[in-house]
Amino acid sequence: MNPRALLERYDVLPKKSLGQNFLHDPNALEKIVDTAELMPEDTVLEIGPGTGALTEVLARSAARVVAVELDQRLAPILQERLADYPNVTIVFQDILETDVPALMETEGYVVVANVPYYITSAILKVLLENEHRPRRLVLTMQQEVAERLIAKPNDMSILAVSVQFFGQPKIAMRINPSVFWPRPEVDSAVVIIDTYATPPVDVSDAKRFFRVVKAGFGQKRKQLKNALGSGLALNSEQTAALCESAGIDPRRRAETLTLEEWAALTRATTLLP
Ligand code: SAM
Repeated sequence: MNPRALLERYDVLPKKSLGQNFLHDPNALEKIVDTAELMPEDTVLEIGPGTGALTEVLARSAARVVAVELDQRLAPILQERLADYPNVTIVFQDILETDVPALMETEGYVVVANVPYYITSAILKVLLENEHRPRRLVLTMQQEVAERLIAKPNDMSILAVSVQFFGQPKIAMRINPSVFWPRPEVDSAVVIIDTYATPPVDVSDAKRFFRVVKAGFGQKRKQLKNALGSGLALNSEQTAALCESAGIDPRRRAETLTLEEWAALTRATTLLP
């Protein structure tokens, strides 16, 4: 049954504040799950199962599905729809408050989700900045955010650097707003992120790397020498020495740097007197 009819039957109105745009097109659901290339032994984390449309397709393709939903009003709908799938566990809580590795009880799980768009960046942070990262993420998100994730030097942002430090993002397909109900005001895309076992750049301390990146992006459109100086509390000689030992022109701006250049700057901070 399509989500609109299901919700009406249970007298539930979709909440915009929870990013509730439900996928109703069976082809779109199948294509998203195909994109994940799941193996029969996989464990999947779904964020926001909603009325269970994607959950049902996932349950047929993986050994186990754990779905975390914030909205308790959807409990009877999910219970009814997923009654025949003993491999599905629904947990009613906020994904941002969830200890995901403890919940998943396994390494190398896969995340497949049509995420609530208002917390896309926060979800990426919770899942990626974690020692026990998923092996792959297949996330339907706002197209504009998807494009920011795959940005190249000259258009980089903290979000792009953070995601590309942990994995390789690519846009698998665009999704037409007409396959959702209610129809969202923005275009959507499915992004795959395959995570790395070790970071793609030579950094011994990820926390230090992110301190440097945050400082660099701290002052919008400022040259690196100013942004790093104020963000890392360095004087102008120290900032000049830092950039020189990393081989980077201090007049450049944060959005132009490659991951390798951020790593070089991070390594150079360890040499500062
Ligand atoms: N998976 C369903 C589908 O594709 O039709 C629903 C996707 S809808 C875009 C996002 C879902 O995330 C909603 O069911 C919403 O209630 C849920 N959600 C919103 N905020 C959440 C949070 N903080 N933690 C867990 N789920 C959340």
